[in-house]
Amino acid sequence: MSAIDSLPPLRQVIEAHGLSAKKSMGQNFLLDLNLTAKIARLAGDLSGSDVLEIGPGPGGLTRGLLAEGARRVLAIEKDSRCMPALDEISRAYPGKLQVINADALELDPLAHLTPPIRVVANLPYNVGTELLVRWLTPADWPPFWKSLTLMFQKEVAERIVAKPGNKVYGRLALLAQWRSDARIVMELPPEAFTPPPRIKSAVVHLTALPEPRFPADPAVLSRLVAAAFNQRRKMLRSALKVLGPDIEARIVAAGLKPTDRAEQVPLEGFCALARELAK
Ligand code: SAM
Repeated sequence: MSAIDSLPPLRQVIEAHGLSAKKSMGQNFLLDLNLTAKIARLAGDLSGSDVLEIGPGPGGLTRGLLAEGARRVLAIEKDSRCMPALDEISRAYPGKLQVINADALELDPLAHLTPPIRVVANLPYNVGTELLVRWLTPADWPPFWKSLTLMFQKEVAERIVAKPGNKVYGRLALLAQWRSDARIVMELPPEAFTPPPRIKSAVVHLTALPEPRFPADPAVLSRLVAAAFNQRRKMLRSALKVLGPDIEARIVAAGLKPTDRAEQVPLEGFCALARELAK
């Protein structure tokens, strides 16, 4: 019998430990272990990696990560009620699972991890987006992670992979695509979760590129993209006025048209303009 088979079904775990889903913690659990194993496989070859899991809850995805052969899993969970259920999994996989009861927005997990590191999470959507932006915007690149495999509201997943001309193309797409490969690898209906959320979900898999696709200073690019999409329907020359009196000349020097709108400008164009602005 494998370790995962020695553990009780998740519905039984939830009942035994009184883990009724709390809305305030964004708890929508995945109880189908075939589904969690599939998500773990989408994260790539785990055998040579430490996995950082944020928000394990009762541990469905955690079991999937361990069963798929993760070298080690560090799981950070805010809800202390989940600790006994996660301890049971630790005991079934001796030396493989470390659980920390903490808020992932407050804790720096790096002291507990050895590269290569893959991050996997089914998180409340607001926490997920905040962590994604942090993971995409470190001062130095490559980042601590090799890949991120994250569940999002489908609409947010579409913003991450959007291309120019798409109405959801914006800051999140540019941040994600500048220094990583981002793909939607799975879509899930509300019924996949207990309790079901109101919206559809999707898993996005991001792989860190060894270096950015086009050179640019991260802080300048970030300021530029924020200004451009703050007024996405305006022409660049008016949306970017805030960046300096000679902005029109700089837009032209970067090979763009002052009459272009942010939503049509590709990543390469934003990077060229960021380099112009940094001169
Ligand atoms: N991974 C589990 C699964 O797939 O069934 C649970 C998913 S549930 C959508 C989100 C989990 O994240 C919950 O267990 C919740 O308690 C936890 N959580 C919420 N906010 C958190 C935070 N700031 N830091 C760590 N965990 C958090």
